[in-house]
Amino acid sequence: MTAVAAPMRLVFLGPPGAGKGTQARELAAAHHVPQIATGDMLREAASAGTPLGATAKSYMDRGALVPDDVIIGLIAERLAKPDAKSGFVLDGFPRTIPQAEALARLLGDLGQALDRVIYFDVPEAELLRRLTGRRSCPVCQSTYHVISNPPRREGICDKCGAALVQRSDDSEGTVRHRLEVYAKQTAPLLDYYRGRGLLATVEGEGPIDAVQAAIRRAVA
Ligand code: AMP
Repeated sequence: MTAVAAPMRLVFLGPPGAGKGTQARELAAAHHVPQIATGDMLREAASAGTPLGATAKSYMDRGALVPDDVIIGLIAERLAKPDAKSGFVLDGFPRTIPQAEALARLLGDLGQALDRVIYFDVPEAELLRRLTGRRSCPVCQSTYHVISNPPRREGICDKCGAALVQRSDDSEGTVRHRLEVYAKQTAPLLDYYRGRGLLATVEGEGPIDAVQAAIRRAVA
């Protein structure tokens, strides 16, 4: 009998700079499910100049959260697409309790439920170091760090050759604000998911490969 891979419906939870995006990209590709990153979706909408993008940009540039109803509408549309039927890795959503409640309702309507919520635990000093040195590719979304993970050619994406940029919300002042917003609005989700028996904590400070192995153990 052929083994059928179990559906993988995951949430990656953690502060900005914890490495969620890097790990979500890898895990989603390995399991042939979409990585659904609300930050990437909003940045794409902003650079395409859509009305949603224009609204979102005004919040993102300040390091504030986009209103719940906007983001919930975006996720509802995305989860209804056929490629999300057999699983997904949610990266950066939910970020508030009302978003988590809306997600439970949306999945319930689709006859689905979350399998696991992976929390990336990283000390604040390390988050600041990572975010302020982060450079990203606006085309393929690959990320680099000016010191610990530089591209082969300075300022150029190894994977697609595009010019790397610093995200406008990765300046030190905005990063500090994003960390405060995380502590106030998103950290309560740890208890929310712990109480539902879904939370698995992964130490997110080590090398990318070690974190990846810990995630694979947590979802096995
Ligand atoms: P990220 O790329 O995940 O760090 O997200 C960048 C920015 O997009 C955040 O600082 C918020 O302004 C916005 N954003 C992304 N996801 C959400 C969400 N689930 N709820 C509200 N705002 C979000």
